[in-house]
Amino acid sequence: MPPTGRAALLGASALAAAGVAHTLPGLVHFRWLRTSLWPGLAGIGAADHVALTFDDGPDPASTPAFLDELDRLGVRATFFLLGSQVRRAGGLTAELACRGHELAVHGYRHVNHLGRPWWWAVDDVRRARDLIEGAGGVEVRWFRPPYGALASSSLVAARQAGLRTVLWTTWGRDWRPGIDAGEVVAVVRSNMYPSATVLLHDSDVTSAPGSWKRSLAALPTLVEEWRAAGLRVGTLAEHGVAGDGDGDTRCLGS
Ligand SMILES: [Zn+2]
Repeated sequence: MPPTGRAALLGASALAAAGVAHTLPGLVHFRWLRTSLWPGLAGIGAADHVALTFDDGPDPASTPAFLDELDRLGVRATFFLLGSQVRRAGGLTAELACRGHELAVHGYRHVNHLGRPWWWAVDDVRRARDLIEGAGGVEVRWFRPPYGALASSSLVAARQAGLRTVLWTTWGRDWRPGIDAGEVVAVVRSNMYPSATVLLHDSDVTSAPGSWKRSLAALPTLVEEWRAAGLRVGTLAEHGVAGDGDGDTRCLGS
């Protein structure tokens, strides 16, 4: 994903171009605003739980290493998948579900929705949802727009696809070049939030080459710190996100 400054700039320029209709959604880039006004959208959950989420996979070059490390740590996470990646890695999508992780929708294309017509976003999100559910054999329930750029078209698309939109409270800014695992840990630590939803990436398809290796290497320290603080670590389904009444993953087939 790389969401941040770049997304904020994209969001700001798109807002200027698109006018009032996009103003309010664009403001959710400001964490204090979305955590205080829209806690469900920010992914705020139970006080003793951290939701661990990964964007931009599945990626045969990197996601298997995350699966093994998460198994070793005894952690299940939520993976926001790209339909374009699922098309190339259907087996890996099924493996994510089989190994207990939650599948979610990040769109078919990794494209900013700001300024896109609603019908374009509806088609993109539905296409991704259908591919992920078909490959994973589970029903998906969450949507996170690329770059976290929440446009009016994103909201319409998620609603039409029967998905709930969730962003994050805390990121590792792990997409940047030239950083190490220690910096990913430090960034997560510095912007940790009560009842957090944490965003990392299990793929570098939209990030600096090899950036996933730093995210992977940061995981043991992060999980150890959260557990030492008395926090459970798991999926969004287990997180008790504000307004979420059903935490069970629903299977589509036998
Ligand atoms: Zn992304």
